[in-house]
Amino acid sequence: MLLRRFAAAVLAALAVTGVQAVTAAPAAAAPRVLYYDASQAQEFKSVVAQGAQIWNSRVTNVRLEPVPAGRTPNIRVYADNGWPRAQTTSLGNGRWYMGRQAVNQGYYQPRIAAHEFGHLLGLPDRRTGLCADLMSGSSAPVSCTNPNPNAREASTVNSNFATAASVPAQAFAWSS
Ligand SMILES: [Zn+2]
Repeated sequence: MLLRRFAAAVLAALAVTGVQAVTAAPAAAAPRVLYYDASQAQEFKSVVAQGAQIWNSRVTNVRLEPVPAGRTPNIRVYADNGWPRAQTTSLGNGRWYMGRQAVNQGYYQPRIAAHEFGHLLGLPDRRTGLCADLMSGSSAPVSCTNPNPNAREASTVNSNFATAASVPAQAFAWSS
């Protein structure tokens, strides 16, 4: 009984300390906002927005927002008959293509969109073959319907934008 009371007291003390620690911490920095332009994504406009939402629900240091009128987008999204692919000019800037070649083969569209946004957020391809990895891209089976980054991918993106990591210009293709 005594032990239990002691444990309760410790827990209460920890709770108080925890609350103090939270209130004493500096306010979190505002996430960096990247504007994307899906106006040229043709039939894929809504899946592009879905890809952006997936990232917004998984990371805190960066947000993908539709570009407001009159503003230059960071990211332009296109659609064509080739492979999905991304071309970055720097971290958070560049373009990607929703390629119908993969769509027609049956690859899950929200996964393609989130994957290509992943390149713009500083992630390279990692062809692990695992559906749990977003950046495994086309190396995962066509049947893979996981559109979400795994914890490691999300935390890499968070640290990229926490430190404004320098990412060189690169090109990535869904299938090599
Ligand atoms: Zn890729």
